[in-house]
Amino acid sequence: MSDIERNQLSSEGSKESSVSVSRPKQLDEVFCSSCGEAIKKEAEICVKCGVRQKSSGKDKNRTVAALLAFFLGSFGAHKFYLGQTGRGILYVVFFWTFIPGIIAFVEFIMLLVMSDQAFEEKYCKKA
Ligand SMILES: [Zn+2]
Repeated sequence: MSDIERNQLSSEGSKESSVSVSRPKQLDEVFCSSCGEAIKKEAEICVKCGVRQKSSGKDKNRTVAALLAFFLGSFGAHKFYLGQTGRGILYVVFFWTFIPGIIAFVEFIMLLVMSDQAFEEKYCKKA
């Protein structure tokens, strides 16, 4: 290890110890709407200031839902994904009748033709 490298390492180390409150945002993080602290995307309440975060309403993806309906629709995977857990359980219970598979395929088509806006209005609004 050269002296330069060692110097860089030691200077980084000292920088880290005196680091300020604002750390870089990670991929799975968003900034708090109140204090600006980087918090987890899934976090409902900021750990720093305790302010409840407004849901962006874009946490669900239409393509993902459609793919789930296509590949795992018989098991209600897309229902669980869209937060309709009760219906998802029905799919699992009646899986053996193949009816959920048929419904899921219809829903797959609907998800495909549905506009993103319609999808958000239907599934992304919090009750
Ligand atoms: Zn905050």
